[in-house]
Amino acid sequence: MEEIVCSVIVPMYNEEDVIAETYSRLTRVMENFGESYEIIFINDGSKDRTREMLLEICKADTRVKLIDFARNFGHQVAITAGMDYAAGQCMVIIDGDLQDPPELIPDMVRLWREGNDVVYGKRISRQGETFFKKMTAKVFYRLLNKLTDVDIPVDTGDFRLIDRRVCEALKQLPERSRYVRGLMSWVGFKQVAIEFERNERFAGQTKYPFKKMLKLAMDGIMSFSYKPLKISSYLGTILSFFSFLYFIFVLLQKIFFPHTTQSGWASLIAVSLFFNGIILLMLGIIGEYIGRIYDEARGRPLYIISELKNMEDREGPRYKINKTR
Ligand code: UDP
Ligand code: MG
Repeated sequence: MEEIVCSVIVPMYNEEDVIAETYSRLTRVMENFGESYEIIFINDGSKDRTREMLLEICKADTRVKLIDFARNFGHQVAITAGMDYAAGQCMVIIDGDLQDPPELIPDMVRLWREGNDVVYGKRISRQGETFFKKMTAKVFYRLLNKLTDVDIPVDTGDFRLIDRRVCEALKQLPERSRYVRGLMSWVGFKQVAIEFERNERFAGQTKYPFKKMLKLAMDGIMSFSYKPLKISSYLGTILSFFSFLYFIFVLLQKIFFPHTTQSGWASLIAVSLFFNGIILLMLGIIGEYIGRIYDEARGRPLYIISELKNMEDREGPRYKINKTR
């Protein structure tokens, strides 16, 4: 097999408006840089012309590879598949919408050559994103840091270069709810930041609606911390302590002032609603963890591939695809 220095991994979901531009900008940067490279596109079950357009590019340029998913498995799974099939000594994960500047890749590779295993892009500014997105991201990264013991750098997305060794380490982590940047912090190695300004999306809409953002956030927190469970039990302890005090108070009232305890419907309802709310919340938190345990226990493959292009001979680490036609 040919020696490849750098694999560029690009997830694509309904990105027909940006593919041509992404491909040409990536290629220009890599050509000028002069290191051997490959570009791995992952079509994450797009419903538009993404797949056809990527196949077209693959036909014209064999340095471009395609992993075509059987359906939409999500961004984090897509980059995992990219890493599973990448052949490079190092690999760069980059968004397909040109929000992460490809021009940064040569600098990343240089830092890697200097002996760093992970070079992660740190966003010093974010353009063209809503106030809501920036706010939630900011709060989330800080909350995650507070909740977890793993030191996950703040304001850092998936745009980064990793060494082959890091990739091999990641392949040994079998979990299904994947928060990839957290897993990368967890495996460790020598990490260095490179700052960049996050651009506006080249075209199209964000593929991360609020629901997906929430899922990513939950995955991040739940797979790196069980503090939500701890907080529930602390809260439970504190509340039962105060309930007990109130119980004593009510009891004494009943004994010494039997006639003043008649009224109290409002307080009864208030207490009942409050406690039921708390109980449901705690059950929900436990349920989230149980759901994740169930997911892991079933042990289904992380993704299903319908087609590989320009790298049909490569074997993914998890399972093989059988060619029928
Ligand atoms: N993406 C994906 N599968 C998904 C959602 C997104 O492969 O289910 C890709 C998308 O095509 C893009 C990258 O992940 O290349 C980041 O998505 P997006 O730019 O929409 O997220 P944002 O930058 O708005 O957070
Ligand atoms: Mg984007």
